[in-house]
Amino acid sequence: MIRFGVLGWPVAHSRSPRMHAAAYAALGLEGWRYLPLGVPPEALAETVRALPAAGFRGVNVTIPHKQAALALADAASPAARAIGAANTLTFTARGVEADNTDAPGLLEALAEDPAGRTALVLGAGGSARAAVHALAGAGAEVTVWNRTHERAERLAADFGVTAARDPQPAQITVNCTAVGLDGSVAALKALPSAADALRHGCTLVDLVYRDGGTPLTRRARDQGARVVDGLAVLVAQGALSFERWTGMTAPREIMWHAVRTD
Ligand code: NAP
Repeated sequence: MIRFGVLGWPVAHSRSPRMHAAAYAALGLEGWRYLPLGVPPEALAETVRALPAAGFRGVNVTIPHKQAALALADAASPAARAIGAANTLTFTARGVEADNTDAPGLLEALAEDPAGRTALVLGAGGSARAAVHALAGAGAEVTVWNRTHERAERLAADFGVTAARDPQPAQITVNCTAVGLDGSVAALKALPSAADALRHGCTLVDLVYRDGGTPLTRRARDQGARVVDGLAVLVAQGALSFERWTGMTAPREIMWHAVRTD
């Protein structure tokens, strides 16, 4: 039995197991399993060390373990090191190797060249760090806004971009805050006014996903903006992890259908 999985705490809500299981089935990978692994922070290191002997070849890592996963790895990709977090661990003869597919996954899901375009990243947590790394690395002119401005300033300094308390509307906006998770339209007031200016010619990526869309994706669509939802980003980062582990092209269309419930 060849095993992969996702480490999180909690992890029951994760759509990754059904996404990867659908990919294995589509490619005829019999005996391959992808398991949800609920592991509390204090047990992360010993669990990761034990997984290879239990038949695991790699794991995805989600909240709250992404930074700790990088710290315990024996080797890390330049992207994981720059972002300060890992979402993909691969177990090899050399030990535990850490990667970050959130950043290239965002660019893949965005599906437009951000070079020379203005980009506004909302948030300053782990996913915002990956978004800023990806967009700035691809040549966008990036501004960061965060509810707690000091965190935006620190993030901006780390990546050589700008932090703003009252940002201008941008051509690409990426929501990396938790706003929208509970479906509340009123919660949109917590975001800067630039988020209201999503219109024709602008693109919104909302990392948050909800069945039926988030308040932000619904508003942006109504106003004529192009919308990339969080499930598209989930599929892209998962497909890149799958390819890192298998060397095969991931069946993205099948993975896409597996995560959707609408
Ligand atoms: P995180 O590190 O905990 O950061 C949370 C961010 O949200 C912080 O910037 C925080 O601001 C902000 N925030 C929280 N509540 C807020 C509110 N009421 N008003 C304004 N800002 C608020 O989380 P993360 O890992 O970056 O994830 C952020 C979101 O992206 C989560 O909803 C997560 O589910 C989603 N996500 C999706 C994918 C995907 O594949 N689609 C991948 C990763 C994450 P403060 O600094 O002021 O607290």
